[in-house]
Amino acid sequence: MKNIDFSKLTRPNIHSLTPYEAKELPCKVRLAANESPYCLDITPDKKVLRKLNRYPDPDGKELKKTIAKNFKITPDNILLGNGSDEIIYYLITTFGGHVLYPVPTFSMYGIISQAIGEKHIGISLDNNFDLDLNKMLSAIKKYRPKLVFLSSPNNPTGNCFSADRILKIIETSKGIVVVDEAYQPFSSEKGFLPMLKDYKNLAILRTLSKIGFASLRVGFLIADKGLINEVNKVRLPFNLNALSQSMALEAFRDKKAIHTQIKTLVSERERLSKELSGMKEVRPYPSEANFILFRANNADLVYQKLIRQGVLVRNLSNSIKNSLRVTIGTPEENNFFIKALRKSVGGKE
Ligand code: PMP
Repeated sequence: MKNIDFSKLTRPNIHSLTPYEAKELPCKVRLAANESPYCLDITPDKKVLRKLNRYPDPDGKELKKTIAKNFKITPDNILLGNGSDEIIYYLITTFGGHVLYPVPTFSMYGIISQAIGEKHIGISLDNNFDLDLNKMLSAIKKYRPKLVFLSSPNNPTGNCFSADRILKIIETSKGIVVVDEAYQPFSSEKGFLPMLKDYKNLAILRTLSKIGFASLRVGFLIADKGLINEVNKVRLPFNLNALSQSMALEAFRDKKAIHTQIKTLVSERERLSKELSGMKEVRPYPSEANFILFRANNADLVYQKLIRQGVLVRNLSNSIKNSLRVTIGTPEENNFFIKALRKSVGGKE
């Protein structure tokens, strides 16, 4: 058989990419992926199970109606995605580059731009992890980006960007500004949904992944009807499967339970923040999300020591020196983590 080096066939922009890798280390306490530790007991509608031979509703009409009702918008303002990752893919496919975002932030804005072959620019955040407005505005003037991605609360720093800086960027930009509100349910700030009526170039990205349904892969974009129409041109038919559509509908019916879980996670976040602040070897940053970024001397070593004790967090030392990110778990998981961290930074294990 002929020997083929497939990397010689790939487009040049793909060469520097590496496949996405989720760590599958066998840890008892998994606090690395910003998932919810809680799983609601819901089942798909029986009718769906009897129609698995048929394609799902290509437009997700029922789900869109439910989302529209919950967010006081119309179904025309919604685009459904197989996770919000897919919607980021669609946005960049539809509008192209330049794509602009602050750094550090969610890595997929850059990775997807690179995969599609669009120019992408990361602008450093300021010392408080807020948007550096002057740098952002000059980059907008210079590169005229078709898309600006702002994750607020920002992953991995945990803070919300100043609302007035976001607004200035929306007002200045001739392109689309996507405020990625994946972590908004955990934030004390009101978010940008109320601004949609004032700014046509504002689009808001949401997901069910952080509030208990990561495995369903349901994300949605809320924006002007015209913008949604354009993105719909590239959306793959039937991108959201029938089970996910049905389970997501169930999830919205259980809003109250989800809300209670979010409240618990927010209060656990505050408790964990205090615990971390009380440890002289680490420095946590304020968070409005379901995770906390913290600095620790020898973060690589601390990360390994945590794994040895059965706790998986996210090592971010590649992008922020000596930094780890811990997702908020159940109270028991958080206690386990704190105990393991004390041992890891204290030289014992
Ligand atoms: N946006 C941000 C800021 C995220 O952190 C994540 C998940 N890590 C996503 C989007 C993607 O979420 P999903 O594809 O699961 O909806």
